[in-house]
Order: sequence, then C-alpha cells, then structure tokens
Amino acid sequence: MNNTNENELVILRDVWKIFSMGNTEVQALRGVSLSIHRGEILSIMGPSGSGKSTCMNMIGCLDRPTKGDVIINGRNTATMNENELATFRNKTVGFVFQQYFLLPNLNVLENVMLPLRYQKIPIEQRRERAEEALVRIGLADRLTHKPNELSGGQRQRVAIARATVTKPMLILADEPTGALDSETGHSVLDLFQEINAEGTAIVIVTHDPEIGRTAPRMVKIKDGLLSED
Ligand code: ADP
Ligand code: MG
Repeated sequence: MNNTNENELVILRDVWKIFSMGNTEVQALRGVSLSIHRGEILSIMGPSGSGKSTCMNMIGCLDRPTKGDVIINGRNTATMNENELATFRNKTVGFVFQQYFLLPNLNVLENVMLPLRYQKIPIEQRRERAEEALVRIGLADRLTHKPNELSGGQRQRVAIARATVTKPMLILADEPTGALDSETGHSVLDLFQEINAEGTAIVIVTHDPEIGRTAPRMVKIKDGLLSED
C-alpha cells in the first residue's frame, strides 16, 4: 500500500487525541492533518494549552492518537508495535525540550553519547561521534562538565548535540527557546538553521510568534485545530 509520496516524512491524518480525566474529557487534538516534508523547517505556533505538545508527541510517536492515522516513512504506525516505534524514535527523530532533560549525573560528553548506546555502536565510536557533535556546536571545552555547571544556552546546545548525534532525519523541538533570553534563543535558532542546511527536517513548537515567524513554513494551532495560510 502506498500511503505517501516520497517527500513526506511524517503524515498526521485526521488525528484526534482525547484525554479522559475522571468523567471529564479533554479534546487536545480535534482532527489534525499535517505533512512534514523531508528537509524542511516548520513551526507549529499556538497559545498555551492549544495542543502543541500533544501534536509534537504524535509526530514523534511518543504517544498514540485516539483516532486517525500517523504515517512515518510510508508506514502506518497503527501497524507497529512499541519496539518498532522505539526504534523509529531512536533512529529517525531527535528530541529537544524547553527543560533540556539532560541527565544530571552524567557529564556533557556522556549525555551526548547516550542515544548511540541503543544503536549497539562500540564505545570508542560513540565517544568520537559525541565529541564531534559537541565540537561542531562550540562546546569542545565543556566535555567533562556536568549540566549544572553550564548556562541555559549551553545546556540547550548539549541537548541539541544529543539530538543530532544519531544523524536523525527529523528534529522535534518543543519550546526550545522557552527558557532562554532572546539573544541566546536566537543563537539556538541559528543552530537549527545550520543543522537544517545539512538536510535534517526541523519542527519548532512555540507559543512565541516572533520565534514562529523565523520558520519558512508556519502552521497555527488553536483549541486542538490546526490551520495553515
Ligand atoms: P500546549 O503544548 O499547546 O501548551 P498541550 O498539548 O500540552 O498544549 O495540551 C493541550 C490540552 O490537553 C490542554 O488542555 C492540556 O491540559 C491537555 N492535556 C495535555 N496532556 C494531557 C494529559 N496527559 N492528560 C490530560 N490532559 C492533558
Ligand atoms: Mg506544550
């Protein structure tokens, strides 16, 4: 079955996500359809509570829809088991979050090596590739620092190095500049541009129109409904 054309990396087709809490229901996504194209930069913009993170979790297969289809590389995720989804996340997607989520007990180099561990890559190669990613990102002199010894902008760079070390086809960034001052935030966006120039698709989720507008393609989300001009 040919579900997609070759240019489409991830497709959401009429995706609903309903959270049940006791006897109330939250309709976080109400029929969202969206294609992520290979190599593009896309921003998903909307106010707090509009469904942005839920949408990102669908694109990255961190969660399954209540209704509708998520198609990755031409395959419907409904037919995939948890192991297959975990492999997709590890090999194809790099995640970046507002709060970085670095492991506090590991140093910078060890944090960046971590995703390679799940790919059965020998430790020497893991170290080499992690170091390479950190050098590129301007953190060559911070390899043995712990996350709490870094500034917010440096921590986010480490998180981005960790997200790119597996050479993913797609980076999903949820409010990546949300905890940073404006200048540091813009340098993170510049970094995404550089990563994108090498062919990686990037999705930036933000509530900030100024950040959202820096992307060549922007979609808006409000009350779980997505729109694109
Ligand atoms: P955003 O990222 O745009 O701030 P979210 O996607 O986090 O919005 O949330 C959208 C809506 O879904 C909100 O009303 C939120 O409270 C609700 N929601 C999100 N995750 C859960 C959850 N795990 N359980 C219950 N409700 C949730
Ligand atoms: Mg959110």
